Amino acid sequence: MANFIDDLFSMFSTDIGIDLGTCNTLVCVKGEGVIISEPSVVAVKRGTNKVLLNGQAVGNIAKEMLGKTPGGINAVRPLKDGVISDFDLAEALIRYFIQKVRLHKGWKWLKPRVAISIPSGISTVEKRAVINSAERAGARRIFLVIEPIAAAIGIGLPIQEPAASMVLDIGGGTTEVAVISLGGIVAAKSIRIAGDEMDEAIAQHMKNTYNLLIGEQMSERVKLTIGSVWPLEKEMTMEVGGRDLVAARPRKVIVNSEEIREALKKPMDSIIQAVKECLEKTPPELSADLINNGIVMVGGGSLIRGADKIIAKEIQIPVRVDEDPLTAVAKGTGIVLENLDMLAESLESGEDLL
Ligand code: ADP
Ligand code: MG
Repeated sequence: MANFIDDLFSMFSTDIGIDLGTCNTLVCVKGEGVIISEPSVVAVKRGTNKVLLNGQAVGNIAKEMLGKTPGGINAVRPLKDGVISDFDLAEALIRYFIQKVRLHKGWKWLKPRVAISIPSGISTVEKRAVINSAERAGARRIFLVIEPIAAAIGIGLPIQEPAASMVLDIGGGTTEVAVISLGGIVAAKSIRIAGDEMDEAIAQHMKNTYNLLIGEQMSERVKLTIGSVWPLEKEMTMEVGGRDLVAARPRKVIVNSEEIREALKKPMDSIIQAVKECLEKTPPELSADLINNGIVMVGGGSLIRGADKIIAKEIQIPVRVDEDPLTAVAKGTGIVLENLDMLAESLESGEDLL
């Protein structure tokens, strides 16, 4: 009976792929590709789990509120460290995106099947939280796709072949690195240090060096504007505004790209260390493949200036940043959707798909 109903539903092909990132959520629909990309942020009434604007203060709208919220409002990232830190808010986030797709597609009552990417280092309890959130948000069946595999599929790496491919995904809250061969993960390492830590390192530098307190959005802006992890052809400067810690009033200082690079050294070293540990776990025959095939970088954090250069130097393997690093995982979940009927047959809802 359940199968019959599933077949009936699948005639309408209500399949959605979600890259539930710590910073950005991307949504993919069968036949259309990535149709939504918004920040993974919800705005709530302070001290509660109540999402403002009737549950609609999510994504772009909520991001605008982040850091500039008047008293009484909190803008929260429910996945801050790469996993669901707040169950109710994660559900609100997923619900918002599912509803958006339903409106877009004109699905009034159909419950979609959803493929969601999850970090490889996620625990069973955390997996359960993702599944429960998606179920309560209106998904009919949920399939979990391990993020580096989704990324590798999304960028078209030959993961089904016996040769090894390596993917490094530097996101906001987590960095995932994995070696893949014959469709499975051979070695992986997941750390909770990525773009957010770079922002924090910049904020810390401003505090220590200039006694200047700067907000999260300002730190990120400094990173995007002059941030680097490898010497630049032309070093840059930028004006940074914040609150003076001593005088407790607004102040601006000029910072240069060299000092920001120094500040970014620590988080970058942790990322390099993760890549090294993953390589240490890789069997020698596959390591040899990597010398030829190299590493492909994805995720917004891979766009930090010189990331490819410093990693290539440290591990002596060719490194390239994918041309569309922010959408790789979402595109991968989209490709998984195309094959969902075949894959879903042998799986229970919530079981790992890949
Ligand atoms: P997640 O998958 O965790 O949601 P994303 O892959 O969307 O993360 O990447 C978000 C991170 O990438 C943020 O920390 C953001 O500041 C960073 N980022 C985006 N663009 C750039 C860039 N050009 N340079 C450096 N960092 C960037
Ligand atoms: Mg991601």
